[in-house]
Amino acid sequence: MFTREYPEVLIVGAGPVGQMAALTLARRGIRVSIVDREWRTGAHSYALALHPRSLELLDRLGLLPRVLEQAYRVRAVGLYEGGERRGKLQISDLRDDFSFIAVMRQDALENLFEQALHDLGVNVRWNHQVVTLTPEEKKVAATIDHLEKSSFGYAIAHTEWIVLKSLTVDVPFVIGADGHQSLVRRTLGIDFPEVAEPEYFAVFEFKSDVDLGDEMRLVLDPETMSVLWPLPDGHCRWSFQLKDWEEPLPPREKDRVEVQIGAARYPVLSEERLRAYIRERAPWFDGSIDEIRWRMVVRFDRRLADAFGKQRMWLAGDAAHMTGPVGIQSMNVGLREAWTLANLIADVLEGKAAPEKMAEYNEERLAEWRFLLGLEGGLEPGPSAEAWIRPYAGRLLSALPASGADLAALARQAGLEVRPGVAVP
Ligand SMILES: Cc1cc2nc3c(=O)[nH]c(=O)nc-3n(C[C@H](O)[C@H](O)[C@H](O)COP(=O)(O)OP(=O)(O)OC[C@H]3O[C@@H](n4cnc5c(N)ncnc54)[C@H](O)[C@@H]3O)c2cc1C
Repeated sequence: MFTREYPEVLIVGAGPVGQMAALTLARRGIRVSIVDREWRTGAHSYALALHPRSLELLDRLGLLPRVLEQAYRVRAVGLYEGGERRGKLQISDLRDDFSFIAVMRQDALENLFEQALHDLGVNVRWNHQVVTLTPEEKKVAATIDHLEKSSFGYAIAHTEWIVLKSLTVDVPFVIGADGHQSLVRRTLGIDFPEVAEPEYFAVFEFKSDVDLGDEMRLVLDPETMSVLWPLPDGHCRWSFQLKDWEEPLPPREKDRVEVQIGAARYPVLSEERLRAYIRERAPWFDGSIDEIRWRMVVRFDRRLADAFGKQRMWLAGDAAHMTGPVGIQSMNVGLREAWTLANLIADVLEGKAAPEKMAEYNEERLAEWRFLLGLEGGLEPGPSAEAWIRPYAGRLLSALPASGADLAALARQAGLEVRPGVAVP
Protein backbone atom coordinates (compact mmCIF):
# COMPACT_ATOMS: atom_id res chain seq x y z
CA MET A 1 0.00 0.00 0.00
CA PHE A 2 2.47 2.62 1.11
CA THR A 3 5.67 0.82 0.21
CA ARG A 4 6.54 2.07 -3.26
CA GLU A 5 5.60 5.71 -3.20
CA TYR A 6 4.18 7.53 -0.24
CA PRO A 7 0.97 9.44 -0.86
CA GLU A 8 0.92 13.22 -0.96
CA VAL A 9 -2.46 13.28 0.76
CA LEU A 10 -3.86 10.78 3.26
CA ILE A 11 -7.64 10.81 3.55
CA VAL A 12 -9.01 9.42 6.79
CA GLY A 13 -12.53 8.08 6.21
CA ALA A 14 -14.17 6.68 3.08
CA GLY A 15 -17.69 8.02 3.55
CA PRO A 16 -19.08 10.15 0.71
CA VAL A 17 -17.00 13.16 1.71
CA GLY A 18 -13.66 11.33 1.92
CA GLN A 19 -14.29 9.56 -1.37
CA MET A 20 -15.24 12.83 -3.06
CA ALA A 21 -11.95 14.37 -1.87
CA ALA A 22 -9.99 11.32 -3.07
CA LEU A 23 -11.59 11.45 -6.49
CA THR A 24 -10.95 15.16 -6.89
CA LEU A 25 -7.28 14.72 -5.95
CA ALA A 26 -6.78 11.61 -8.07
CA ARG A 27 -8.20 13.39 -11.10
CA ARG A 28 -5.72 16.19 -10.49
CA GLY A 29 -2.91 13.62 -10.59
CA ILE A 30 -2.10 13.88 -6.87
CA ARG A 31 -0.97 10.67 -5.14
CA VAL A 32 -3.70 9.93 -2.67
CA SER A 33 -4.40 7.20 -0.18
CA ILE A 34 -7.83 6.73 1.41
CA VAL A 35 -8.34 4.49 4.43
CA ASP A 36 -11.35 3.45 6.50
CA ARG A 37 -11.51 1.42 9.68
CA GLU A 38 -14.71 -0.34 8.54
CA TRP A 39 -14.85 -3.24 6.09
CA ARG A 40 -17.10 -1.69 3.42
CA THR A 41 -19.30 1.27 2.50
CA GLY A 42 -22.48 2.03 4.47
CA ALA A 43 -25.54 -0.08 3.72
CA HIS A 44 -28.59 2.21 3.89
CA SER A 45 -30.05 5.28 2.30
CA TYR A 46 -29.07 7.82 5.05
CA ALA A 47 -28.49 11.14 3.21
CA LEU A 48 -30.54 10.19 0.20
CA ALA A 49 -30.58 13.28 -2.04
CA LEU A 50 -28.08 15.24 -4.11
CA HIS A 51 -28.69 18.97 -4.35
CA PRO A 52 -28.23 20.80 -7.69
CA ARG A 53 -24.85 22.13 -6.50
CA SER A 54 -23.65 18.58 -5.82
CA LEU A 55 -24.85 17.47 -9.25
CA GLU A 56 -22.77 20.24 -10.78
CA LEU A 57 -19.64 18.88 -9.05
CA LEU A 58 -20.43 15.28 -9.95
CA ASP A 59 -20.77 16.41 -13.55
CA ARG A 60 -17.29 17.95 -13.38
CA LEU A 61 -15.98 14.63 -12.08
CA GLY A 62 -17.65 12.78 -14.96
CA LEU A 63 -20.04 10.90 -12.65
CA LEU A 64 -23.33 12.54 -13.53
CA PRO A 65 -24.51 10.02 -16.16
CA ARG A 66 -24.03 7.16 -13.69
CA VAL A 67 -25.88 9.08 -10.98
CA LEU A 68 -28.78 9.85 -13.26
CA GLU A 69 -29.10 6.24 -14.36
CA GLN A 70 -30.05 5.34 -10.80
CA ALA A 71 -31.65 8.46 -9.39
CA TYR A 72 -35.25 9.60 -8.97
CA ARG A 73 -35.61 13.24 -9.98
CA VAL A 74 -37.38 15.58 -7.61
CA ARG A 75 -38.30 18.99 -9.00
CA ALA A 76 -40.52 20.40 -6.28
CA VAL A 77 -41.05 20.62 -2.54
CA GLY A 78 -44.69 20.17 -1.51
CA LEU A 79 -45.41 22.16 1.64
CA TYR A 80 -47.99 20.97 4.14
CA GLU A 81 -49.10 22.35 7.43
CA GLY A 82 -50.35 19.26 9.19
CA GLY A 83 -53.17 17.81 7.15
CA GLU A 84 -53.41 20.72 4.77
CA ARG A 85 -51.47 21.31 1.57
CA ARG A 86 -50.21 24.88 1.59
CA GLY A 87 -48.00 25.30 -1.44
CA LYS A 88 -45.18 24.18 -3.63
CA LEU A 89 -41.62 25.37 -4.17
CA GLN A 90 -40.07 24.73 -7.57
CA ILE A 91 -36.54 23.43 -7.57
CA SER A 92 -36.85 23.47 -11.35
CA ASP A 93 -36.98 27.30 -11.24
CA LEU A 94 -33.64 27.63 -9.45
CA ARG A 95 -31.36 27.29 -12.41
CA ASP A 96 -31.21 26.13 -16.03
CA ASP A 97 -28.50 23.50 -15.82
CA PHE A 98 -29.21 21.29 -12.79
CA SER A 99 -32.85 21.94 -12.16
CA PHE A 100 -33.68 19.01 -9.91
CA ILE A 101 -32.59 17.01 -6.88
CA ALA A 102 -31.33 13.49 -7.57
CA VAL A 103 -32.69 11.05 -5.00
CA MET A 104 -30.28 8.20 -4.58
CA ARG A 105 -29.43 6.02 -1.60
CA GLN A 106 -26.22 7.10 0.12
CA ASP A 107 -24.83 3.56 -0.12
CA ALA A 108 -25.37 3.61 -3.90
CA LEU A 109 -23.49 6.92 -4.11
CA GLU A 110 -20.64 5.57 -1.97
CA ASN A 111 -20.39 2.47 -4.18
CA LEU A 112 -20.34 4.62 -7.28
CA PHE A 113 -17.51 6.75 -5.84
CA GLU A 114 -15.58 3.62 -4.88
CA GLN A 115 -15.86 2.23 -8.41
CA ALA A 116 -14.79 5.57 -9.93
CA LEU A 117 -11.74 5.64 -7.65
CA HIS A 118 -10.91 2.06 -8.57
CA ASP A 119 -11.10 3.01 -12.27
CA LEU A 120 -8.43 5.63 -11.55
CA GLY A 121 -6.24 3.07 -9.80
CA VAL A 122 -7.07 4.19 -6.26
CA ASN A 123 -8.45 1.45 -4.02
CA VAL A 124 -10.11 2.32 -0.74
CA ARG A 125 -8.14 0.61 2.03
CA TRP A 126 -10.91 -0.86 4.17
CA ASN A 127 -10.02 -2.28 7.62
CA HIS A 128 -7.34 0.37 8.05
CA GLN A 129 -7.70 2.54 11.12
CA VAL A 130 -5.63 5.64 11.65
CA VAL A 131 -4.61 5.54 15.30
CA THR A 132 -2.21 8.45 15.74
CA LEU A 133 -1.29 11.56 13.81
CA THR A 134 1.81 13.54 14.70
CA PRO A 135 2.07 16.90 12.97
CA GLU A 136 5.58 18.08 12.15
CA GLU A 137 6.74 21.16 10.30
CA LYS A 138 6.63 19.80 6.75
CA LYS A 139 4.68 16.57 7.18
CA VAL A 140 2.37 14.55 9.34
CA ALA A 141 3.41 11.12 10.61
CA ALA A 142 0.37 8.81 10.58
CA THR A 143 0.21 5.44 12.29
CA ILE A 144 -2.28 3.10 10.65
CA ASP A 145 -3.43 -0.29 11.95
CA HIS A 146 -4.45 -2.92 9.43
CA LEU A 147 -7.29 -4.78 11.13
CA GLU A 148 -8.66 -8.25 10.67
CA LYS A 149 -11.81 -9.78 12.06
CA SER A 150 -11.33 -12.93 14.13
CA SER A 151 -13.90 -15.20 15.72
CA PHE A 152 -13.21 -16.81 19.07
CA GLY A 153 -15.03 -19.24 21.33
CA TYR A 154 -17.18 -22.28 20.79
CA ALA A 155 -20.33 -22.17 22.90
CA ILE A 156 -20.76 -18.43 22.42
CA ALA A 157 -18.70 -17.21 19.53
CA HIS A 158 -17.69 -13.60 19.51
CA THR A 159 -15.87 -11.53 16.99
CA GLU A 160 -13.03 -9.15 17.65
CA TRP A 161 -10.84 -7.00 15.50
CA ILE A 162 -7.17 -7.80 15.74
CA VAL A 163 -4.29 -5.74 14.42
CA LEU A 164 -2.55 -7.58 11.59
CA LYS A 165 0.09 -4.94 11.04
CA SER A 166 0.84 -1.41 12.12
CA LEU A 167 2.67 1.01 9.86
CA THR A 168 3.72 4.63 9.94
CA VAL A 169 3.64 6.88 6.89
CA ASP A 170 4.76 10.48 6.43
CA VAL A 171 2.45 12.62 4.35
CA PRO A 172 2.44 16.30 3.44
CA PHE A 173 -1.34 16.66 4.02
CA VAL A 174 -4.12 14.84 5.86
CA ILE A 175 -7.82 15.29 5.16
CA GLY A 176 -10.03 14.32 8.08
CA ALA A 177 -13.29 13.05 6.57
CA ASP A 178 -13.63 10.72 9.51
CA GLY A 179 -17.12 11.56 10.68
CA HIS A 180 -18.52 13.07 13.85
CA GLN A 181 -16.05 11.41 16.22
CA SER A 182 -13.13 12.57 14.06
CA LEU A 183 -9.69 11.55 15.29
CA VAL A 184 -8.18 14.24 13.09
CA ARG A 185 -10.27 16.93 14.80
CA ARG A 186 -9.46 15.57 18.26
CA THR A 187 -5.74 15.36 17.44
CA LEU A 188 -5.82 19.02 16.45
CA GLY A 189 -7.49 19.88 19.77
CA ILE A 190 -10.43 21.51 17.98
CA ASP A 191 -13.61 21.68 20.04
CA PHE A 192 -16.91 20.44 18.59
CA PRO A 193 -19.52 22.18 20.72
CA GLU A 194 -23.23 21.65 20.56
CA VAL A 195 -24.81 24.76 19.08
CA ALA A 196 -28.48 23.76 19.35
CA GLU A 197 -30.62 21.08 20.94
CA PRO A 198 -30.39 17.64 19.27
CA GLU A 199 -33.28 16.48 17.10
CA TYR A 200 -34.73 12.96 17.13
CA PHE A 201 -36.34 11.35 14.09
CA ALA A 202 -38.17 8.08 13.55
CA VAL A 203 -37.28 6.84 10.07
CA PHE A 204 -39.31 4.29 8.08
CA GLU A 205 -38.45 3.09 4.61
CA PHE A 206 -41.00 0.91 2.85
CA LYS A 207 -42.34 -0.26 -0.46
CA SER A 208 -45.45 1.61 -1.51
CA ASP A 209 -47.76 2.09 -4.46
CA VAL A 210 -47.86 5.84 -3.72
CA ASP A 211 -47.21 8.12 -6.69
CA LEU A 212 -45.34 11.15 -5.40
CA GLY A 213 -44.69 12.48 -8.88
CA ASP A 214 -41.66 14.74 -8.85
CA GLU A 215 -42.15 15.99 -5.29
CA MET A 216 -40.64 15.55 -1.87
CA ARG A 217 -43.04 16.63 0.84
CA LEU A 218 -42.39 18.63 3.94
CA VAL A 219 -44.95 18.64 6.74
CA LEU A 220 -44.69 21.43 9.29
CA ASP A 221 -46.46 21.72 12.56
CA PRO A 222 -45.75 23.91 15.58
CA GLU A 223 -43.48 21.37 17.27
CA THR A 224 -42.19 18.97 14.65
CA MET A 225 -41.29 18.46 11.03
CA SER A 226 -41.88 15.35 8.94
CA VAL A 227 -40.53 14.63 5.52
CA LEU A 228 -41.50 12.20 2.77
CA TRP A 229 -39.06 11.28 0.02
CA PRO A 230 -39.75 9.12 -3.01
CA LEU A 231 -37.00 6.56 -3.63
CA PRO A 232 -35.96 5.15 -7.00
CA ASP A 233 -37.04 1.55 -6.50
CA GLY A 234 -40.74 1.83 -5.66
CA HIS A 235 -39.95 2.62 -2.04
CA CYS A 236 -40.39 5.80 -0.08
CA ARG A 237 -39.04 7.16 3.18
CA TRP A 238 -40.97 8.92 5.93
CA SER A 239 -38.96 10.65 8.67
CA PHE A 240 -40.96 11.97 11.62
CA GLN A 241 -39.39 14.34 14.10
CA LEU A 242 -40.14 13.19 17.63
CA LYS A 243 -41.12 15.66 20.33
CA ASP A 244 -39.07 13.75 22.84
CA TRP A 245 -37.21 10.49 23.03
CA GLU A 246 -36.15 9.21 26.42
CA GLU A 247 -34.87 5.73 25.62
CA PRO A 248 -31.17 5.07 25.08
CA LEU A 249 -30.06 4.74 21.46
CA PRO A 250 -27.18 2.80 19.92
CA PRO A 251 -24.27 5.03 18.85
CA ARG A 252 -24.94 6.94 15.64
CA GLU A 253 -22.92 4.86 13.22
CA LYS A 254 -23.64 3.80 9.68
CA ASP A 255 -24.66 0.15 9.45
CA ARG A 256 -22.52 -1.95 7.14
CA VAL A 257 -25.05 -4.78 6.89
CA GLU A 258 -28.02 -4.28 4.61
CA VAL A 259 -30.66 -6.47 6.13
CA GLN A 260 -32.57 -5.20 9.13
CA ILE A 261 -34.57 -8.07 10.50
CA GLY A 262 -38.06 -7.09 11.59
CA ALA A 263 -38.42 -4.49 14.29
CA ALA A 264 -36.24 -6.30 16.81
CA ARG A 265 -33.97 -3.34 17.44
CA TYR A 266 -36.76 -0.79 17.63
CA PRO A 267 -39.88 -2.66 18.78
CA VAL A 268 -41.63 0.62 19.32
CA LEU A 269 -41.40 1.41 15.59
CA SER A 270 -44.09 -1.06 14.61
CA GLU A 271 -46.18 -0.76 11.48
CA GLU A 272 -49.04 0.42 13.74
CA ARG A 273 -46.80 3.24 14.97
CA LEU A 274 -46.04 4.23 11.36
CA ARG A 275 -49.74 4.24 10.54
CA ALA A 276 -50.45 6.33 13.65
CA TYR A 277 -47.83 8.95 12.68
CA ILE A 278 -49.31 9.13 9.18
CA ARG A 279 -52.86 9.48 10.53
CA GLU A 280 -51.82 12.21 12.92
CA ARG A 281 -49.45 14.19 10.71
CA ALA A 282 -50.27 13.43 7.08
CA PRO A 283 -53.80 12.06 6.67
CA TRP A 284 -53.55 12.85 2.97
CA PHE A 285 -51.00 10.04 2.48
CA ASP A 286 -52.94 7.23 0.86
CA GLY A 287 -50.11 4.96 -0.30
CA SER A 288 -49.80 1.34 0.70
CA ILE A 289 -47.28 0.13 3.28
CA ASP A 290 -46.10 -3.09 1.75
CA GLU A 291 -42.80 -4.01 3.30
CA ILE A 292 -40.85 -1.98 5.84
CA ARG A 293 -37.20 -2.58 5.01
CA TRP A 294 -35.59 -0.10 7.39
CA ARG A 295 -36.78 1.53 10.59
CA MET A 296 -34.86 3.33 13.26
CA VAL A 297 -34.70 6.26 15.62
CA VAL A 298 -31.77 8.58 15.00
CA ARG A 299 -30.47 11.38 17.17
CA PHE A 300 -29.16 14.28 15.11
CA ASP A 301 -26.80 16.50 17.07
CA ARG A 302 -26.22 20.04 15.93
CA ARG A 303 -22.57 20.85 16.30
CA LEU A 304 -19.92 23.00 14.67
CA ALA A 305 -16.16 22.65 15.04
CA ASP A 306 -14.31 25.75 16.24
CA ALA A 307 -12.05 25.46 13.17
CA PHE A 308 -11.83 23.41 9.97
CA GLY A 309 -8.19 22.48 10.59
CA LYS A 310 -4.78 24.02 10.54
CA GLN A 311 -1.38 23.70 8.89
CA ARG A 312 -1.30 20.23 7.33
CA MET A 313 -4.50 18.65 8.65
CA TRP A 314 -7.93 19.80 7.45
CA LEU A 315 -11.51 18.70 8.03
CA ALA A 316 -14.53 18.20 5.79
CA GLY A 317 -18.03 16.79 6.28
CA ASP A 318 -19.42 15.42 9.53
CA ALA A 319 -15.94 15.67 11.06
CA ALA A 320 -16.60 19.41 11.31
CA HIS A 321 -20.39 19.86 11.41
CA MET A 322 -23.64 18.12 12.21
CA THR A 323 -27.19 19.22 11.56
CA GLY A 324 -30.73 17.82 11.24
CA PRO A 325 -31.61 15.43 8.42
CA VAL A 326 -34.45 17.15 6.59
CA GLY A 327 -32.59 19.38 4.10
CA ILE A 328 -29.76 16.83 3.52
CA GLN A 329 -27.32 19.68 4.06
CA SER A 330 -24.61 17.77 6.00
CA MET A 331 -23.61 15.54 3.13
CA ASN A 332 -24.23 17.97 0.28
CA VAL A 333 -22.28 20.83 1.80
CA GLY A 334 -19.69 18.23 2.88
CA LEU A 335 -19.24 17.14 -0.74
CA ARG A 336 -18.60 20.74 -1.75
CA GLU A 337 -16.11 21.08 1.10
CA ALA A 338 -14.28 17.98 -0.10
CA TRP A 339 -14.07 19.39 -3.62
CA THR A 340 -12.85 22.82 -2.47
CA LEU A 341 -10.35 21.46 0.02
CA ALA A 342 -8.94 18.85 -2.36
CA ASN A 343 -8.43 21.45 -5.10
CA LEU A 344 -6.82 23.86 -2.66
CA ILE A 345 -4.40 21.21 -1.40
CA ALA A 346 -3.60 20.22 -5.00
CA ASP A 347 -2.88 23.89 -5.79
CA VAL A 348 -0.54 24.15 -2.80
CA LEU A 349 1.25 20.90 -3.70
CA GLU A 350 1.67 22.09 -7.28
CA GLY A 351 2.98 25.48 -6.14
CA LYS A 352 -0.04 27.31 -7.59
CA ALA A 353 -1.24 28.60 -4.22
CA ALA A 354 0.57 29.65 -1.07
CA PRO A 355 -0.10 27.48 2.01
CA GLU A 356 -1.54 30.59 3.71
CA LYS A 357 -4.49 30.31 1.29
CA MET A 358 -5.75 27.41 3.41
CA ALA A 359 -6.87 29.92 6.04
CA GLU A 360 -9.56 31.11 3.60
CA TYR A 361 -11.04 27.60 3.54
CA ASN A 362 -11.41 27.77 7.30
CA GLU A 363 -13.09 31.17 7.24
CA GLU A 364 -15.49 30.37 4.39
CA ARG A 365 -16.54 27.06 5.93
CA LEU A 366 -17.18 28.57 9.34
CA ALA A 367 -19.23 31.38 7.77
CA GLU A 368 -21.44 29.00 5.79
CA TRP A 369 -22.11 26.73 8.75
CA ARG A 370 -22.74 29.60 11.17
CA PHE A 371 -25.43 30.64 8.70
CA LEU A 372 -26.87 27.15 8.13
CA LEU A 373 -27.02 26.44 11.85
CA GLY A 374 -28.75 29.74 12.49
CA LEU A 375 -25.89 31.20 14.55
CA GLU A 376 -25.41 34.20 12.26
CA GLY A 377 -28.27 35.40 10.12
CA GLY A 378 -31.09 33.11 9.10
CA LEU A 379 -34.41 33.31 7.27
CA GLU A 380 -37.22 35.69 8.11
CA PRO A 381 -40.61 36.43 6.59
CA GLY A 382 -40.56 39.07 3.84
CA PRO A 383 -43.55 41.26 2.91
CA SER A 384 -44.98 38.60 0.57
CA ALA A 385 -44.87 35.74 3.12
CA GLU A 386 -48.28 34.24 3.79
CA ALA A 387 -49.44 34.26 7.40
CA TRP A 388 -49.26 30.47 7.82
CA ILE A 389 -45.56 30.23 6.92
CA ARG A 390 -44.31 33.10 9.09
CA PRO A 391 -43.87 31.08 12.31
CA TYR A 392 -41.87 28.45 10.43
CA ALA A 393 -39.32 30.79 8.81
CA GLY A 394 -36.43 30.01 11.17
CA ARG A 395 -36.92 26.23 11.07
CA LEU A 396 -37.07 26.14 7.28
CA LEU A 397 -33.42 27.18 7.11
CA SER A 398 -32.22 23.63 7.77
CA ALA A 399 -35.21 21.93 6.12
CA LEU A 400 -34.97 23.25 2.58
CA PRO A 401 -32.95 20.87 0.39
CA ALA A 402 -30.41 23.41 -0.82
CA SER A 403 -27.54 25.64 0.25
CA GLY A 404 -25.99 28.93 -0.83
CA ALA A 405 -27.76 30.98 -3.51
CA ASP A 406 -30.14 28.06 -4.26
CA LEU A 407 -31.30 28.06 -0.64
CA ALA A 408 -31.94 31.82 -0.74
CA ALA A 409 -33.85 31.47 -4.02
CA LEU A 410 -35.98 28.59 -2.74
CA ALA A 411 -36.77 30.51 0.45
CA ARG A 412 -37.76 33.54 -1.64
CA GLN A 413 -40.41 31.43 -3.37
CA ALA A 414 -41.91 30.90 0.09
CA GLY A 415 -41.80 34.66 0.75
CA LEU A 416 -38.80 34.28 3.10
CA GLU A 417 -35.66 36.35 2.96
CA VAL A 418 -32.15 35.93 4.19
CA ARG A 419 -31.79 38.26 7.16
CA PRO A 420 -30.57 41.58 5.76
CA GLY A 421 -26.85 42.16 6.03
CA VAL A 422 -25.93 38.48 5.84
CA ALA A 423 -24.08 37.34 2.73
CA VAL A 424 -25.25 33.85 1.72
CA PRO A 425 -22.07 31.79 1.54
C1 LIG B 1 -28.25 6.29 11.06
C2 LIG B 1 -27.99 7.52 10.24
C3 LIG B 1 -29.04 8.13 9.56
C4 LIG B 1 -28.80 9.28 8.80
N1 LIG B 1 -29.85 9.88 8.16
C5 LIG B 1 -29.63 11.02 7.47
C6 LIG B 1 -30.69 11.72 6.83
O1 LIG B 1 -31.86 11.30 6.87
N2 LIG B 1 -30.42 12.87 6.17
C7 LIG B 1 -29.14 13.36 6.15
O2 LIG B 1 -28.92 14.41 5.56
N3 LIG B 1 -28.13 12.74 6.73
C8 LIG B 1 -28.33 11.59 7.40
N4 LIG B 1 -27.29 10.98 8.01
C9 LIG B 1 -25.97 11.63 7.99
C10 LIG B 1 -25.16 11.33 6.74
O3 LIG B 1 -25.05 9.94 6.59
C11 LIG B 1 -23.79 12.00 6.94
O4 LIG B 1 -23.97 13.40 6.90
C12 LIG B 1 -22.79 11.59 5.88
O5 LIG B 1 -22.51 10.21 5.93
C13 LIG B 1 -21.49 12.34 6.16
O6 LIG B 1 -20.49 11.86 5.40
P1 LIG B 1 -18.97 11.91 5.87
O7 LIG B 1 -18.21 11.32 4.73
O8 LIG B 1 -18.61 13.27 6.36
O9 LIG B 1 -18.85 10.98 7.16
P2 LIG B 1 -19.21 9.45 7.34
O10 LIG B 1 -20.15 8.99 6.28
O11 LIG B 1 -19.58 9.26 8.75
O12 LIG B 1 -17.82 8.70 7.06
C14 LIG B 1 -16.75 8.75 7.97
C15 LIG B 1 -15.92 7.49 7.78
O13 LIG B 1 -14.71 7.63 8.53
C16 LIG B 1 -14.35 6.35 9.04
N5 LIG B 1 -13.44 6.56 10.17
C17 LIG B 1 -13.69 7.19 11.34
N6 LIG B 1 -12.59 7.23 12.10
C18 LIG B 1 -11.60 6.60 11.40
C19 LIG B 1 -10.22 6.32 11.68
N7 LIG B 1 -9.64 6.71 12.81
N8 LIG B 1 -9.52 5.67 10.74
C20 LIG B 1 -10.09 5.27 9.57
N9 LIG B 1 -11.37 5.51 9.28
C21 LIG B 1 -12.13 6.18 10.18
C22 LIG B 1 -15.69 5.72 9.42
O14 LIG B 1 -15.63 4.32 9.46
C23 LIG B 1 -16.60 6.24 8.29
O15 LIG B 1 -16.74 5.30 7.23
C24 LIG B 1 -27.49 9.81 8.75
C25 LIG B 1 -26.45 9.18 9.40
C26 LIG B 1 -26.69 8.03 10.14
C27 LIG B 1 -25.53 7.35 10.83
